[in-house]
Amino acid sequence: MIVVVGGGVVGLFAAYYLKREGVDVALVEARDIAHSSRAAAGVLEFTKFELNRINVGGYASRYLKMIRSGKAALRRIDPLWLLTYLKMYGRDPGADVWAFMSEMAQFSKREYFRLAEESNDFELREEPVYEVVDEVEKEVDSLRRDPLRPRFEVGELDGRRVIVYLDAVVVSTDLLADRLVRELSGVKIIKKRAAELEDKHLVLEDGERLAVDGVVFASGWWCRRMGVPVAPLKGYGVRAAAAQKPGKTIADFVGGVFVVPFSRWVKITGRFDVDPYPDLKYLDKVLEAARRWVPSFEVFDTAVGYRPCTPDGLPILERRGDAVIATGTCRLGWTYGPAMGKLAAELALGRRGDTPLTTRRFR
Ligand SMILES: Cc1cc2nc3c(=O)[nH]c(=O)nc-3n(C[C@H](O)[C@H](O)[C@H](O)COP(=O)(O)OP(=O)(O)OC[C@H]3O[C@@H](n4cnc5c(N)ncnc54)[C@H](O)[C@@H]3O)c2cc1C
Repeated sequence: MIVVVGGGVVGLFAAYYLKREGVDVALVEARDIAHSSRAAAGVLEFTKFELNRINVGGYASRYLKMIRSGKAALRRIDPLWLLTYLKMYGRDPGADVWAFMSEMAQFSKREYFRLAEESNDFELREEPVYEVVDEVEKEVDSLRRDPLRPRFEVGELDGRRVIVYLDAVVVSTDLLADRLVRELSGVKIIKKRAAELEDKHLVLEDGERLAVDGVVFASGWWCRRMGVPVAPLKGYGVRAAAAQKPGKTIADFVGGVFVVPFSRWVKITGRFDVDPYPDLKYLDKVLEAARRWVPSFEVFDTAVGYRPCTPDGLPILERRGDAVIATGTCRLGWTYGPAMGKLAAELALGRRGDTPLTTRRFR
């Protein structure tokens, strides 16, 4: 049996592909399925990576500026992560890694369209995203530097020049998480916390021991317990009922909020805090910013999400003995979810060699 630890988007897709291979698979999730992943806006950016690259030159000072203006908070940082970040600062992983990321993105896109063709019960739609930014020209430069070559144009929204990102696909992460759970019918889902992998057994927190052939650790930023440099970049995702929804998907980087309309609700997301605590301390700021785009709404569901971020913003996909580690997608976990799950499944089954995304790059 192969056990997947973590029922976020990466773990759900890993279990999905293992099931499709006819493998005996179980999913272990300490809390509710996708409690953290559900917070996401659901904007899939298959050709845009620049925002994830938290180690490009100049990023640290931009982030400090965000902290000073109250748009981000740094509440607790792991010293080992910080040291690795300083070491990786300004490093570009090279063309082969970007080619690999681009293949992962295109695989994920194909898979989302295949799932939607079977049944579009997660409101997938291809549409431009309107990005409100501080300085349009600077953003244009940054998009031109993006190794994944996004298609975009400069447009207008609410009387303001904005970036219109043309390659976006939007999905409801709430509905997609539910769909993936339905796809996993027959897979044993165990609501417990995994403690350790010991001698071909996954030991759960209550002492239960599961005999395993392999384990996929898709446990988000909690993978740090395995010595993996990954930090929790916390944000909130709320679903709100609104009589008048915006007609577009808006990524307002000035206000610090994404507003995405769906048929039954508006998804409002925001914050990028280095923060492992589960409270709602900065939620009001996000809701306040959203009022610019949806003047009146009523929140009926709030999720706290932790983007698992590595010091270079690239994911980790690595086999260590009987374990596979699949984490580190940062802002783009839904965008890369299918590819992360598929590669983790292949690594667990011994059907492929190492990826260029191992932790060896941090040494
Ligand atoms: C506000 C916000 C907006 C976002 N918007 C987007 C977006 O528009 N597009 C996009 O592509 N991405 C977006 N993201 C990023 C995306 O949500 C994340 O990259 C993704 O959720 C990471 O998924 P994961 O499965 O790796 O980790 P997680 O979702 O963190 O899942 C890990 C799971 O493992 C479980 N777990 C941990 N340890 C154990 C253990 N020992 N035993 C059992 N279970 C355990 C946890 O409870 C958790 O459920 C957003 C994130 C946030 C917070």
